[in-house]
Amino acid sequence: MIPVGRGAVSLCAHRHYPRLHLANTAVGRQGRPWTGLGSPPVRTAAERREQLKAVFEEARGCTRCALHQTRTTVVFGAGNADADLMFIGEAPGANEDRMGLPFVGQAGKLLDKLLAEIGLERSDVFICNTLKCRPPNNRDPHPNEIEACNDYLRRQVDLIEPTVICTLGNFSTKLLRDDTTGISRLHGREEVRIIGPRAVRLYPLYHPAAALYTPSMLEALRADFHRIPELLELGPPEQPETFEEPVPELDEVTIERHEPATSEEPASQLGLF
Ligand code: URA
Repeated sequence: MIPVGRGAVSLCAHRHYPRLHLANTAVGRQGRPWTGLGSPPVRTAAERREQLKAVFEEARGCTRCALHQTRTTVVFGAGNADADLMFIGEAPGANEDRMGLPFVGQAGKLLDKLLAEIGLERSDVFICNTLKCRPPNNRDPHPNEIEACNDYLRRQVDLIEPTVICTLGNFSTKLLRDDTTGISRLHGREEVRIIGPRAVRLYPLYHPAAALYTPSMLEALRADFHRIPELLELGPPEQPETFEEPVPELDEVTIERHEPATSEEPASQLGLF
């Protein structure tokens, strides 16, 4: 296990479920930031992990919203940087803020228990939150805070490349679905959503903290949770067609013909003309 922040990110993926490694079969384009045009970047798991660590380093010093003034620690997230399954909660609480790790209180214990019931542990999954900093007195996240933190979350999803994302509770569900429909209508209903360049299976669940105090919610959370292996077994959903940059028509471009500087011009340059 290699530490990312004060959490641990495992170097070797524990893949219990089949996963198509589309990204690792092709060559080229490594390390190129994806602009939204052309094919999404092809990166190895090790490269994605290094890039995730770089995002963490950036987030650690974040001052994008006022929460940086009251936080103790940025709670970036923890787990397997190449996980098929990702959980996104709401925001760190007091324990998380102190320890720098997500879901370390009672809600986290319930999450661990539910994971164990389906044969998984934290090192198999990646767990993070919508907000990386604790809102004072555990108040609800404000829209400007969600907006400020959204870029970190999107980059986490992009770099981890999960197959299934479980949103825990209303805040992450509404954010990732870009819709105001509440969790009581959506929990346990998987759907394929495009997030960044990739399609994922989005699976909203009740927040474990809410389930702690409401037995009927706990029952629903457990029943929904027990369907996670089935969703993982499906593997990645069909991916969107990549949007290729159009090749301009010949008469749309002015071709400037450069004479080779020397007769020893490398052979590969010839392919440009
Ligand atoms: N609740 C959350 O949403 N996240 C945590 O990390 C802890 C409690």
